[in-house]
Amino acid sequence: MSMTQPFVDLGEIERARDAISGTVRMTPVNLSPSLTAHAGVPVHLKLEHTQLTGSFKLRGATNAVASLTGAEKRRGVVGVSTGNHGRGLAFAARAAGVKCIICMSRLVPQAKIDGIKAQGADVRIIGSSQDEAQLEVDRLVAEDGMTMIPPFDHRKIIAGQGTVALEVLEQVPDAATVLVPLSGGGLISGVAAALKASRPDVRVVGISMERGAAMHACLKAGKPVLVEELPTLADSLGGGIGLDNRLTFAMTRDLVDDVILVTEAEIAAAIRHAYWQERQIIEGSGSVGIAALLARKIESPGPVVAILSGGNIDMNQHHRIISGEDVDVTQEAA
Ligand SMILES: *Cc1c(COP(=O)(O)O)cnc(C)c1O
Repeated sequence: MSMTQPFVDLGEIERARDAISGTVRMTPVNLSPSLTAHAGVPVHLKLEHTQLTGSFKLRGATNAVASLTGAEKRRGVVGVSTGNHGRGLAFAARAAGVKCIICMSRLVPQAKIDGIKAQGADVRIIGSSQDEAQLEVDRLVAEDGMTMIPPFDHRKIIAGQGTVALEVLEQVPDAATVLVPLSGGGLISGVAAALKASRPDVRVVGISMERGAAMHACLKAGKPVLVEELPTLADSLGGGIGLDNRLTFAMTRDLVDDVILVTEAEIAAAIRHAYWQERQIIEGSGSVGIAALLARKIESPGPVVAILSGGNIDMNQHHRIISGEDVDVTQEAA
């Protein structure tokens, strides 16, 4: 579509790394002996759940806030995300001394509200739907001149998320395949742009859950389409990509080699594996790379890197999963 912007390039990602280095953590990589034995090639885990705020979203948010003009910074930023983007944005704004308001509906669970508040954002509870919360954001933008920072379809966000790949290139220079949890595609667009510019032979594989894999459906349709959101253990991967998508749809279509889907049972097995074998607490969305490896859905001629993208899981749910309970979220009311 003519609305598509030029792709985010390596230079923008390198500049993002400089812009965010004072706020974000460079996260470690662990070689997994058990997954290496299972896959027959070295498997490295990029521990991005150990990032401040518990996910990579802090990288993009920090870069987006750093890119604002002085006047924009004085007026502040707004968002609607109740999940990892909201946490990252709140933290990034506070670190930069910028006011941040996260708007959410009355239906958002208290634990999520507390998670955002704990990062220092002002939480505004508006109405009883995400749409009503969005209307309040639109008002704050129109009337108070605040800047809305979206979760993925934004150059500065994509460039910030791409800095994960700059670290991977240094930490695992012989990586042959990189597994990337995929929702709106901000992470995979940045990662693929960085990797393909330096090592075009590296395979970049997106992993989504079977239940509500929006980008996968859009790639099949050849354009952004509406996809029904369903309850899933990979709750950070839910939601659509936006019918007016400017960047992540085209970047994912053109730069990503493959997209693979995993089941709820495979995600639960991966959360268990991460805990008992790797000693890591990973949320469902962060574990989909491990899920695909355990299910033998990945073939790689050489070393694999799985990005463990986040760790913000409800600890009661985590406890039930690692204890071997059959946790089925698919029957919950949407
Ligand atoms: C947001 C998120 C993703 C997906 O990132 P996109 O840029 O939307 O594709 C994956 N894992 C976690 C933990 C996330 O919070």
